[in-house]
Amino acid sequence: MKKKIVVGSLRQETNSFSPVITVEDHFSVSKGQDMLNKIAVTEMFENAGFEVIPTICAYAIPSGKVDQKAYVGFKQSILDGIPRDGSVAGVWLYLHGAMNVVNIGSGEGPLVAEIRRLVGPGVPIAVALDFHANNTEELIQNANIICGYRTAPHVDGIQTQQRAADLLLRCIKENVLPQCVMVRPPLLFPGEMVTTGVEPAKSLIAELDKIEAQEGVWTASLFGCMPWTDAPNAGSSVVVCGLKESKTPLKEAKRLARMFWNARERFGFEETAAQPEKAIQMACAMTDSPVFISDSGDNVTGGAAGDNAYFLNLLLQHQCKNTLVAGITDQPATEKFYALSVGESLETSIGGTLDSNSTAVTIKGTLKCKGIFERDSKPGMKYVLVETDGIDIILTETRSSFTTQDIIEKTGAKVSDYHMIVVKLGYLFPDLRRIAKGAVMALTTGNCGLQMDRFDFHHIHRPMYPVDKDFDWEP
Ligand SMILES: [Zn+2]
Repeated sequence: MKKKIVVGSLRQETNSFSPVITVEDHFSVSKGQDMLNKIAVTEMFENAGFEVIPTICAYAIPSGKVDQKAYVGFKQSILDGIPRDGSVAGVWLYLHGAMNVVNIGSGEGPLVAEIRRLVGPGVPIAVALDFHANNTEELIQNANIICGYRTAPHVDGIQTQQRAADLLLRCIKENVLPQCVMVRPPLLFPGEMVTTGVEPAKSLIAELDKIEAQEGVWTASLFGCMPWTDAPNAGSSVVVCGLKESKTPLKEAKRLARMFWNARERFGFEETAAQPEKAIQMACAMTDSPVFISDSGDNVTGGAAGDNAYFLNLLLQHQCKNTLVAGITDQPATEKFYALSVGESLETSIGGTLDSNSTAVTIKGTLKCKGIFERDSKPGMKYVLVETDGIDIILTETRSSFTTQDIIEKTGAKVSDYHMIVVKLGYLFPDLRRIAKGAVMALTTGNCGLQMDRFDFHHIHRPMYPVDKDFDWEP
């Protein structure tokens, strides 16, 4: 019988402070050949002579906790796809690592544990994870290979998937079952403080290659964590996978975790960070355009709702001109403007439709553009570009993040027309960084606020830096 490799992917990053529960409908789901086309490893496995068995590939953008029923359904779809006839040679998974499910907690741990129970101890399981994974012992103990992204902002998703696939093939070929060990420095930094292109993260990532070069080690990963998940598994980790009998994986995991901990006071923001009003003043004073301001507290890519009009209100108060707000999620307001013809105006409230803590503001706006974004396997999402008092605003029907020039300009807004562009992001994604002539991180409050000691945590391990300070830690 031809040996089979089962593949599956379930990814969502949970911000447990967001009230927007992630339901089944928020996921893009593909199955069968479609699923095989979505992942970056199908050909690798086929070329190695294996039959690739698809299960599901489900992805939702970062948001609140995942609905229990949706999660259980996805998990079951993956389990149901695993042949029970002993023909499985290996299991490959692409997960986020910071999924948190209502009434369950970590989504990845139980998934991998149940797969392990099904396939037994002798079948290798390899898992590719996001850099912001909040790892659990349950996950680490049940996987033979764990590979995390090595870049933040992330540009190595494909390489990470393929590294995990490569090592899975090695497990099968050499008939070896490595094990993973994890060491967790008590660090809970927002991603904006741990970007891998700059120090000290850059040097920590560079250590991974040195660790992998050692005898007995197969792969090593460092995880920056998802800090806005109030759960016992929230926090950074170092995971090293290697031969069971070798002492090197644990020794090296401890060494790198210690380096991470020792560097804690050196992590900062790549952009200048400032309180909101100061951020506007600084951006206005910059001479080159465009200047990007991150409304970081309402960062959609970190799971915040993206419906807060607080910053828009501030821009109106400061009578800013040549400014684009990209964007605000507001379904009712989008529908109202969408019903107009270009050039027509109306007065309406914007903001606060998803999160009761978000600000709403009333504007009189004129429709400049409207359209529908196409999304895979989902109905299109309506957007409008509206002008009010010299400020252009992109409104969207559902939560969306504007991470590239192309996505912004699809709405009819032209980046070169503005001095200031306000985005609901934390760090600027590479494409925006490329075109930004200046950037300011506005320290707005919200579910992705960057001042971690302002959050009311109940479930994370304590002490935890920088929520707690003045304590020491030994691995
Ligand atoms: Zn991430």
